[in-house]
Amino acid sequence: MTNKNSDLEKKIDSIGDLIDLQKLHNNCIVCDHEIINSNLYKRFRICPSCRYHYTTTLRRKIAIISDRGSFREINKWIESRNTTDFSPKNSYKERFTNDKKRTNLNEAVITGECLIGGNRSVLIILDSSFLGGTMGLVVGEKISLALEYAGKNKLPAVGIITSSGKRFQDGILSLHQMAKTVISTKLVKKNNNPFIVILGNPCTGPVFSSFASMADIIFSEPKAHLGFASLGELREVENNHIYEDHLSEFYLDNGQIDKIIERHEIKNEITTILSLISTNLLLKSKQKYNNKKFVKKNPKQTINIARNRKRPTSKYYLKNLFTNFVELHGDRISNEDKSIILGLGKISGQTVVIAAQEKSFLLENKKYTMGEITPSGFRKAIRGAKLAESLNLCFITLIDSLGPQIGTLNEKQGLASSISNCINEISNINVPSISIIIGEGISESAIAFSVTDRTLMMENSIYASVKPEAAAKIETNEIEGIDDIANALKLTALDCKKIGVIDEIIQEPIKGAHDNPKETIKLVEKSLIYELSNLNKISSYSLVKNRYNKIRNTGEYSNKYKSNFIKEINYLGKGIKNSIQSFRIKKDSK
Ligand SMILES: [Zn+2]
Repeated sequence: MTNKNSDLEKKIDSIGDLIDLQKLHNNCIVCDHEIINSNLYKRFRICPSCRYHYTTTLRRKIAIISDRGSFREINKWIESRNTTDFSPKNSYKERFTNDKKRTNLNEAVITGECLIGGNRSVLIILDSSFLGGTMGLVVGEKISLALEYAGKNKLPAVGIITSSGKRFQDGILSLHQMAKTVISTKLVKKNNNPFIVILGNPCTGPVFSSFASMADIIFSEPKAHLGFASLGELREVENNHIYEDHLSEFYLDNGQIDKIIERHEIKNEITTILSLISTNLLLKSKQKYNNKKFVKKNPKQTINIARNRKRPTSKYYLKNLFTNFVELHGDRISNEDKSIILGLGKISGQTVVIAAQEKSFLLENKKYTMGEITPSGFRKAIRGAKLAESLNLCFITLIDSLGPQIGTLNEKQGLASSISNCINEISNINVPSISIIIGEGISESAIAFSVTDRTLMMENSIYASVKPEAAAKIETNEIEGIDDIANALKLTALDCKKIGVIDEIIQEPIKGAHDNPKETIKLVEKSLIYELSNLNKISSYSLVKNRYNKIRNTGEYSNKYKSNFIKEINYLGKGIKNSIQSFRIKKDSK
């Protein structure tokens, strides 16, 4: 299946030659639609028909993202020295001078401070119209200075980036700009501020493999060519490369970027995120749970309610429990697992990061999944936990899955290690964390997401180390054994509370969450507000320490084990004492 040179590739290749960015086209070069009178084309350089995003000037990009008149350039004085110092070739000097004249810029990057939807931010615009947007000594320095400026002034940093190729004329120093810019991103994150980038066409080479990929959130314009290698390099090594495999859509499907956004929507999207993060409201409420006495339930019936087709899944909670929810995608390594929905949202005004297991969604083959989680899903949750930590926000997980997805491909991608890493990372974050089992909390999918400060369980949800049917099959070789097994598994909320594997039970409407989802949301919201209010008071040092102790001592067995352990130590101690004594006696008698 090769698609050596698709029509799109040919067309876009020919557009690449049109470097006169000011020139307006009457008709779209890709689809021939008349665009000259279209507002979308005039303002944003987007074809209203085929949505092709034309290259645009750096100054237009500033106007598109920042509030009118708010941009103030910083470090303007830093300019490249006489370029012949760097390069033995005159062609470079000539290109440099030409690009300066053509673009009216001094370098490929402009940095500054601006308002984005009223949020003070540092803006870094790196543009391929000037020497391909390559990163030489000056470009790297200006990017690092801007990131440091964001760090010093406690501001978020936003990058709009197109770049392709290497500024090899700067020699080994151009390579070192990669390291310099990567380490500078830490300074933005140190103050719990985000670094967000929007990649345009193209974004390849050292820029994509350095600071651009360090962003907390990575957006891309549609059909942008992304990657480590440029198209030219790819053509040299793979004469059968598939052009579409190097576009942003492919990177989204493979978990490398968060979202594809059309240019005219970028400002809104960034404003929503910046507004979410800049809110530092922390909930304070004393309203406790209803002091409801939960009665013992028939496990089989509970399983049926937990699996009721109409029972709200994570999607319902995300839509109705949280406001301004912004979904993020991908594990940044290899895939996008749709069984995990990751994002930022607000509950009663407090911003949180949520990683939710979505049990029921339609696959491409029109089959429903049961939320089995792949290695990418676990890694996506880790990303969420790390993001919460980086932005100093509470991390919430919603649990509803039949377990990890079994398969050779998942083994190859490190399913086991992704689970252990997920447990390790989530249990170790220095911000408050809460997990809620909303439906079925089965096996490793449940434990990996429940190593939180508080573990809550909906009244009719179940929590078990294995799917009850699977346990019945193993134990009795018959599915009919499920009644006994369900009892033995202690999977109801009340049982789990007694054993000590969860902290609280959240009440459901009388017949179950499916019977009145709206009331369910109110009940969950009340519990979450109460838990968040309590956790907000605790220092991060104590959170991590308490969480360690909680996980370490979970369950009634731990206490039994502890006393046995003490007995054993004493016994061993005595044994050692005795053996030393007998050794001494033997020695003395010699
Ligand atoms: Zn078009």
